[in-house]
Amino acid sequence: MNFIIKNAEVYSPAYLGKKDIMIIGDKIIKIQDEITINNNLNFLNFQLIDGSHKYIVPGFIDSHEHFLGGGGEGGFHTRTPEIQLTDITKGGVTTAIGCLGTDSVARNLRALLAKTRALEEEGITTYMYTGSYRIPVDTITEGIREDIMIIDKVIGVGEIALEDHRSSQPCYEEFNKVVAEANIGGMLAGKAGVVDVHMGKGKNGLEYLYRIIEEGILSVKNILPTHINRNQNLLDQGKDYTKTGGFIDLTTSSSKVKSQENQCAASLKYLLEEDVPIDNITFSSDAQGSLPKFDKNGNMIGMKIGQVSSLYAAVRSAVLNYGIDLESALKVITKNPAQIFKLKNKGRVKENNEADLVILNRDDLLIESVIARGKVMIKNKEAVVEGTFE
Ligand code: ZN
Repeated sequence: MNFIIKNAEVYSPAYLGKKDIMIIGDKIIKIQDEITINNNLNFLNFQLIDGSHKYIVPGFIDSHEHFLGGGGEGGFHTRTPEIQLTDITKGGVTTAIGCLGTDSVARNLRALLAKTRALEEEGITTYMYTGSYRIPVDTITEGIREDIMIIDKVIGVGEIALEDHRSSQPCYEEFNKVVAEANIGGMLAGKAGVVDVHMGKGKNGLEYLYRIIEEGILSVKNILPTHINRNQNLLDQGKDYTKTGGFIDLTTSSSKVKSQENQCAASLKYLLEEDVPIDNITFSSDAQGSLPKFDKNGNMIGMKIGQVSSLYAAVRSAVLNYGIDLESALKVITKNPAQIFKLKNKGRVKENNEADLVILNRDDLLIESVIARGKVMIKNKEAVVEGTFE
């Protein structure tokens, strides 16, 4: 199907003003003030989409989703279920990166690779990390370097857990070797070779990352520490760390949300007020992770599952409740992750980029429609493409 979107205000994420957008196949072919179809192009059967009173923004990139489910830390019955296609597309996400988590025994990387491919076959763009929380790192082939180089879908390693009671408590040298292997694999494959690092609440926080900087041999540009908004201490460490040029990732699904308050959006506001460059910040959802609920005495009273929809909800809250402009807020789920993960044709509304687009209602900023690689997945808030078993 080929489309022309007429009269929409475009955030690329930079504000471009009112434009028409031509989509042929899976690509954005033209962005112009006005596109008219002459008779020569009639054979392409363009479908017109009216973009009046809408914003067109890039499809969202979510760098941390537990495709196979996660959790299991409260016994077998607390293992969360697999994700479904529309869990992702309803959240406006058109590019997702899958990871294992704590459990690399009953869940494994081959199954994650199969699920990663399945979601791509269903219409979105997907990648995965090799490994899990654990060091030594579990891999599909002989090692991290080999997985990144040989397996198209493997874009990095993670989430490696540090400073957490569920971490395998690696010494610095062990962690440093993982970073080196990801870096070399990335270089050889022309990929980012990102090390996604799960940060726990341990007080040493980002110490290992600072040691890498001090040694001056490896770069930290391909390390993305996540859950930085876990507590104020870690958020402050993250704030200082960005001044070295490092990137930080905030988790949306585990952050507290009350009607007008969103802890993740509030953290973004805090970081920007502390002069952290917006380009060094990303958000990810941690979808399908388990979210235990505790009573006043610390007893677990129930479980919830992390939602992809929390990703854009935090961005929307940053705009509506915390006064951050839409252009800046969008960057953390579009242009910034595209840059860090070296996804060249993603994360921006740009000619020759892939046609991954989200259409927002201008009045309330809610997601109306989602287009992934030129195919309409969500139309007027309804899923028009469902996963195979939905
Ligand atoms: Zn984690």
